[in-house]
Amino acid sequence: MMNRKEFIQAGLRLSVLTGIVGGSLFLVSRNKVDFTCSENSVCKSCTVFSGCELDKAKQSRQDER
Ligand code: SF4
Repeated sequence: MMNRKEFIQAGLRLSVLTGIVGGSLFLVSRNKVDFTCSENSVCKSCTVFSGCELDKAKQSRQDER
């Protein structure tokens, strides 16, 4: 069972983690962070494919059509 101090520490850690993840997602969604792409990556299996603005991803989306 958590005591009060552990509960507060866990809450603070969760808040910091949420802020970092949320801030990162916000910046990525606003295209403020450039994705780096390894040459061996396959766009269709990439986790950021749907939102990627790199030429390689755009070409891959066009090829799908
Ligand atoms: S979607 Fe394609 S171009 Fe964009 S980061 Fe992923 S692998 Fe690279």
